Amino acid sequence: MIPFLDLKSIQLAQRDELAAAFERVLESGWYILGAEVTQFEQEYADYCGARHAVGVANGLDALSLALRAMGIGPGDEVIVPSNTYIATWLAVSHAGATPVPVEPDARTCNLDPTRIEAAITPHTRAIMPVHLYGQPADMQAILEIARHHHLRVLEDGAQAHGARVRGERLGAHGDAVAWSFYPGKNLGALGDGGAVTTNDPELASRLRELRNYGSKRKYHNEVIGYNSRLDELQAALLRVKLPQLDAANRRRTHIAQRYLSAFAGLGLTLPHVPDFAEPAWHLFVVQHPRRDALAARLAELGVATMIHYPVAPHLQPAYATLGLGAGSFPISEAMHARVLSLPIGPTQGDDATDQVIAAVQRAVAELA
Ligand SMILES: *Cc1c(COP(=O)(O)O)cnc(C)c1O
Repeated sequence: MIPFLDLKSIQLAQRDELAAAFERVLESGWYILGAEVTQFEQEYADYCGARHAVGVANGLDALSLALRAMGIGPGDEVIVPSNTYIATWLAVSHAGATPVPVEPDARTCNLDPTRIEAAITPHTRAIMPVHLYGQPADMQAILEIARHHHLRVLEDGAQAHGARVRGERLGAHGDAVAWSFYPGKNLGALGDGGAVTTNDPELASRLRELRNYGSKRKYHNEVIGYNSRLDELQAALLRVKLPQLDAANRRRTHIAQRYLSAFAGLGLTLPHVPDFAEPAWHLFVVQHPRRDALAARLAELGVATMIHYPVAPHLQPAYATLGLGAGSFPISEAMHARVLSLPIGPTQGDDATDQVIAAVQRAVAELA
């Protein structure tokens, strides 16, 4: 069986360095907000071309604390994609605001800038583009709308570490970018982790306060904060992984390019990469009208696949209270019925890629 993502082989490729990082933290005697977190924050900010990075406990907290640091809360509306991972919406809800979905562009699967203005009301405070599947959203168009309507922009970069827009690394196109270091992401820890990058020193300072009980000075609490710190140990492990990120993304790109050329004209809807975008290829997502049959046949042929995602956020029981029934976001709903993610990862060899290609060609031909 070709695995969807071989997480173990990714870690074992850096076994000795990861073990040395663990030893370093063990021996330091300091386990929360120490030198490893500070240095990782600096290294990740530099990598992203942002002035500040603030480490937090996970990607969801990165999103919701960034919204809070922007002063967004009850009574406010935040524009989110109708087809994102639900964490984007949950962050808005956790901040006390209301997520307002906007449909994606059917070709890129990312927020469609031409549909944003229709969703803006006097309560709208921010737009949250998601760089879904590692494909950068159309930041130029989104930033123009945000400037015109005086809205904040918080990017969800959880799937797009290292991706570029017009040659510039994601990290501070908008007001801030929220990142996840969940193990399966392109830059993954060996547990949970997250960060926010920004060029805004005030936003960075509020985030540092919010993640640590609302305190700048120990036992002095300015605001009602959280305990949401990036672990010292995870920061040390991420410092081992970060220098390998570009090579890992190049490996992903190589696989994606092989898929794109092998599947051209096959009858699958393939990922569309706009001219401005250099994706990080977190996922390789194809679309097929008989998605479930395709996935089942691929499993028989020894290829593991996943669905990102099977149910749109507005149709989840968690969001029933918004009253957005089936049919209210048809582009997103059609996507959720058709998307299938093929294996891709930095340790996937050419033989495995050959096997995926042969299996997909065969399964699609059988279903035609
Ligand atoms: C993974 C992910 C998150 C949440 O990150 P966690 O670290 O798991 O909390 C948020 N948004 C998107 C798009 C994601 O893929």
